[in-house]
Amino acid sequence: MDFKRFGSKIVMRLDKGEEIVKTVKEFCGKNGIKLASVSAIGAVNKVDVGIFIQDTKEYHSKEFTGSMEIVSLLGNISQKQGEVYAHFHINLIDTFYGAFGGHLNEAWVGATCELVFDVIEGEVERKFNEAVGLNLFKF
Ligand code: ZN
Repeated sequence: MDFKRFGSKIVMRLDKGEEIVKTVKEFCGKNGIKLASVSAIGAVNKVDVGIFIQDTKEYHSKEFTGSMEIVSLLGNISQKQGEVYAHFHINLIDTFYGAFGGHLNEAWVGATCELVFDVIEGEVERKFNEAVGLNLFKF
């Protein structure tokens, strides 16, 4: 991983073998980034994505392996009980150019990943909402 900061923006490169969610969370923790929007593109070789089943309030997840392009990764960084909370969604294509995606649990870089952070000065906390079954923004 390497990066360069330009005011409130950070441009980052992740390298082969790095896991995107873990690396970003560790980076934000070490650098005091508590609130940001994140976007990325790149090439991964293993992902674990989820779908939240709204009726049962359960996440179902599935792992995919092989050559995949990140068509779009969008998400945000917030806080939950003093910890960095990364919420990312990802859209990928496989070697048949079929698109799929979901809530991003884990993604391993197969070639490179190019991220841009827009850091927001401030902090937003998350709190578990029983009715919804998710950790929601709390203002
Ligand atoms: Zn999600």
